[in-house]
Amino acid sequence: MTHLPDVRYLAGFTGSSAALAVTGRAARLFTDGRYKSQAAEEVQAAKVEIVSGAPALAAVQWLSAQPGVENAGFDAAWATVAELARWKAGLASGLRRKFLVPLGEPLVESLRLMKDADELAIMRKAALLGCKLFDHILEFLHLGLREIDVAAELEHQARVLGAEGMSFETIVASGPRSALPHGRATTARLPRRGFLTLDFGVILKGYCSDMTRTVHFGTPKPKERSAYEAVLEAQQAAVAAVGSGVKCGDVDEAARSVLRTAGLAEAFSHSTGHGVGLEIHEPPRVGTGQTTVLRPGMVVTIEPGIYLQGEFGIRIEDMVAVTRTGGEVMTPAPKALIEL
Ligand code: ZN
Ligand code: ZN
Repeated sequence: MTHLPDVRYLAGFTGSSAALAVTGRAARLFTDGRYKSQAAEEVQAAKVEIVSGAPALAAVQWLSAQPGVENAGFDAAWATVAELARWKAGLASGLRRKFLVPLGEPLVESLRLMKDADELAIMRKAALLGCKLFDHILEFLHLGLREIDVAAELEHQARVLGAEGMSFETIVASGPRSALPHGRATTARLPRRGFLTLDFGVILKGYCSDMTRTVHFGTPKPKERSAYEAVLEAQQAAVAAVGSGVKCGDVDEAARSVLRTAGLAEAFSHSTGHGVGLEIHEPPRVGTGQTTVLRPGMVVTIEPGIYLQGEFGIRIEDMVAVTRTGGEVMTPAPKALIEL
């Protein structure tokens, strides 16, 4: 295992350089000297070995020396062609051809799909912290601010409230810039009238939160108000569609069909949502035609949006945990249109 969120998931190690090797009998975590004491503190499930070279190469060599180990599977999604060549070069010549085998399915990814009670408890906290930040920023917003001032306040407050960091670059997109689905905060001033989209998340104990709210400065025009209502209705329809046994594609369709009816199908240019956990984007994908079936313990975002270039954009996003009986909204911040 070389993908760090997978290593963290299995062995608890949070450092930035590691590989984990697992056989039927033993597990060993390889890292470098910087992490000697941290690894000793964090890792219980595996023996730790400090190496001077690449941890993944050391892991491959260790595996090849284990009695009875004939092959080593690796996650092809997280190995480059160059790395694979280096691993092979580090093996005895007789092993180079067949010892390393790409896994057909990413092993840890499927384990990480379903969050256990401890993970859900952390994620609830992270999501609620996000809601607190939204409340805070509503109080903070005033004319004359630039988008980056809003992002700075949000991120500062996140730290004050205990966040380890932000899950991704905070999106603050105001006025016509709200039509950019991923509008990073710029030096643009907040408009006297128009939408403001805030999309942000925090990290708590490694787990990410993710939420979006769109508010309006001044009184919205009828077109803006009806578009907002349509996005909200689409978002609520998709949230209501979340449940154990439901296909991701059907959740996506619940949102998409509302926007289609409202004549906004074209303006909804992305998927309805994504899985979230140790990574901000992880399986499952909640998009058109996705056949992954939702199961209790999965956590997905529901975030339909519409983007009218040169005019405005609107997105509303919640985190929803799949339960036995439906979906639990983890981000209960208000969604009715807020006019500032
Ligand atoms: Zn988001
Ligand atoms: Zn998201």
